[in-house]
Amino acid sequence: EEEKRKWIKGKKLGEGTYANVFLGHSRSDPAVKVAIKKIKVNKEFTDGMPPDAVREVKALQELNHPNIIRLYSVFASKDQNLSLVLEFLPRGDLETLMFDQNVTYNAADIKAWTAMMLRGVWFCHENFVLHRDIKPNNLLIGADGELKLADFGLARSFADPHQLMSPNVITRWYRPPELFFGARHYSGAVDVWSVGMVFAQLANRRAWITGGNDTEMVTLLHRELGAITDDVWPGVSTLPHYVGPGPNPEKPRDLQFYIHNFRPLGTEGCHLLMQTLMLDPKTRVTAKQALQHKYWFADPRPTPTELLPHVP
Ligand code: ADP
Repeated sequence: EEEKRKWIKGKKLGEGTYANVFLGHSRSDPAVKVAIKKIKVNKEFTDGMPPDAVREVKALQELNHPNIIRLYSVFASKDQNLSLVLEFLPRGDLETLMFDQNVTYNAADIKAWTAMMLRGVWFCHENFVLHRDIKPNNLLIGADGELKLADFGLARSFADPHQLMSPNVITRWYRPPELFFGARHYSGAVDVWSVGMVFAQLANRRAWITGGNDTEMVTLLHRELGAITDDVWPGVSTLPHYVGPGPNPEKPRDLQFYIHNFRPLGTEGCHLLMQTLMLDPKTRVTAKQALQHKYWFADPRPTPTELLPHVP
């Protein structure tokens, strides 16, 4: 109740799957503009918040980094709904930007955005936070052009689980193979995979692997990235939901394959992409390693943040 009084709610900015979003500002400093995200909490499960979600909110409140959306405050209202007070990011998201035919962008812009994504992910992982839901529409753009990781799957953990099941709503395109196969212990490597898929999508302005359901995703992963077997990922076949490649398994993908399909990234970019999309999460590059890759130092240099293109 105390927290709630600190913020003044303004007009509705938009409606998402799990939340209504309002413009707002700080009562004590009207220059501090915020987005107030009112989560639609499922009424059947209002016995308090899930403990994991609470822990996650606390962690996010303490993550201060230019490439992670600031979470200023969290409060519950009388009707049990939960509000998150977030940094206001007025320039849309990476998905809108990629789909907008009025926006053109080049290899230097892709490099700048991917670097910002990786810096945000690196900082999360340094602080033992996994994002778990990196995808273009969760990458928001600030007034200064800075790209920020948003929606830490935390809205979801408070939301209606039935809504969650709707296959048209949740995209699986950025999810790594270890999650489809039901790995119980997963790591920061899940976020690195998602970054790789966004990087690939930036190159061609279209998502790479777009299965309509989990089964189709696994089929496509085998087909596009090469057969996922114990040869390339020792022990994968023992995972609880493992499904093999079927007849005529595809060969492992080499650098030439990536250069052929993701040419805008250049040779170094393709090498980095390949390392972010290693099937075996143990051999996948970490965010920290990815930030030390030669790609960042090769031409073209990344576009300065303030010069990046944006949705008009
Ligand atoms: P979705 O469920 O589609 O991901 P959200 O619930 O995150 O959507 O947000 C709904 C809409 O609110 C977005 O499309 C966007 O226009 C707006 N929005 C969300 N977060 C912010 C923010 N931090 N700053 C400005 N606008 C935001």
